[in-house]
Amino acid sequence: MVAAPSRFARRVPAAGLVARVLGAGPTGALAALALVDAGWTVELCDPLDAEALCRRQRAYAFNQSSRELLERLDLWTWIEPQLVPFDELQLWDLGVQQSLAFGLADLNRHQASKRMAAIGWIGRHDELMTLLLRRLGSSAGVSLQLGSSPIPDPQRRLDLVIAADGPDSPTRRRLGIGCWRRPYGQACLTATVALRGAADNQAWELLRSEGPFAVLPLGAQRFQLVWSAPAARCRQLESLSASAFLDRLAAALPDRFQPDALLDQPRTFAVELLIAQRLHRQGTLLVGESAHRCHPVGGQGLNLCWRDVAVLHRLARRASRGELDPRRLGAAYGRRRWPDLLLTLLVTDLLVRIFSSRSPVLLPLRRLALGLLGRFQPLRRLALAVMTSGPCAIQASRPE
Ligand SMILES: Cc1cc2nc3c(=O)[nH]c(=O)nc-3n(C[C@H](O)[C@H](O)[C@H](O)COP(=O)(O)OP(=O)(O)OC[C@H]3O[C@@H](n4cnc5c(N)ncnc54)[C@H](O)[C@@H]3O)c2cc1C
Repeated sequence: MVAAPSRFARRVPAAGLVARVLGAGPTGALAALALVDAGWTVELCDPLDAEALCRRQRAYAFNQSSRELLERLDLWTWIEPQLVPFDELQLWDLGVQQSLAFGLADLNRHQASKRMAAIGWIGRHDELMTLLLRRLGSSAGVSLQLGSSPIPDPQRRLDLVIAADGPDSPTRRRLGIGCWRRPYGQACLTATVALRGAADNQAWELLRSEGPFAVLPLGAQRFQLVWSAPAARCRQLESLSASAFLDRLAAALPDRFQPDALLDQPRTFAVELLIAQRLHRQGTLLVGESAHRCHPVGGQGLNLCWRDVAVLHRLARRASRGELDPRRLGAAYGRRRWPDLLLTLLVTDLLVRIFSSRSPVLLPLRRLALGLLGRFQPLRRLALAVMTSGPCAIQASRPE
């Protein structure tokens, strides 16, 4: 039950605001740290223990919006050494055999003025979660309840509940919040490989008719593959021996790439478009994949989740300063998140539809779009700003 503190009517700094965060995945863990940074006391609960939370085998592509949030939370200098930066993003439409390279010069003025040495960064889930949980463990304002289901305490006064409990969110269901869900005809296979033909400072997005294929640098000529294809094909690839997998991979990639070794067990995950019909109800906010899910094209997923956290952080600080009644925090959060969520889901969906299509009608349009982007730097800057800071970058960077 969420309390209704009266002190906010007087707009005095609020002492002792308390939140419970349900779910300690990358979104919930960062949301807990953001709330603590904003001066709140936080309970972070997850049925998984710390080891299971860290164990997942995946890597994320972080963009400028995630870097900015980590900087604001004083986590960037701590996390950056674990990340692999890339300063070249190669887009290659194999349907029209046309490619396009984004470089540091294509970052916008705000990003360039910070002398950014990278367009984006690749980070491994296990290393990231280990750091976040370590930081949470050493934060005075956090109580960690990992490895068991949270036991609700009706006596406990809570100012806010944050549901970061993933795409099948039990909290979303309990609150009766519906969602629109549409599976893509594709699934996504992830694997780590040793590869020749790509440099350690390059990330690649290959646009193939069976789906987008990302090649992300992990350093020392190792790359994380995010291979979108029909679900049955992904499951079949997942079950192959290492040598058979490498053969299929070599056949799927353009000739310039030569896979040498498979370094982990390939895994498939379902890809879907999901958006909750509301982002808050009864003092509970949905953040991360409990509220939305998009196709991994362009590596938007976790960055979009962390932009939820960025807005939560700004609003939680205002509540701490007595400038915002926590009872109004949910509505303020919803108003600020809808434009970014809808636009990002729309843009990723359009990219998948247009670039996975075999329709001959679209081929000249794709050629034209890539040609214009290659020719005009302002267009490249705009496209890169959308990819690295989100479609509502101006709104997101507005001070609260
Ligand atoms: C198999 C798989 C592989 C993936 N690989 C990649 C990849 O390679 N690159 C990439 O960018 N993205 C990948 N993704 C997507 C990425 O993992 C998500 O974008 C990201 O995990 C979203 O983070 P989240 O914290 O919002 O949700 P989640 O990571 O799903 O975390 C939700 C947490 O809530 C907890 N929880 C569930 N129920 C409750 C409850 N009742 N109370 C409290 N806690 C609860 C869960 O235990 C979990 O820890 C992958 C997804 C899957 C499923």
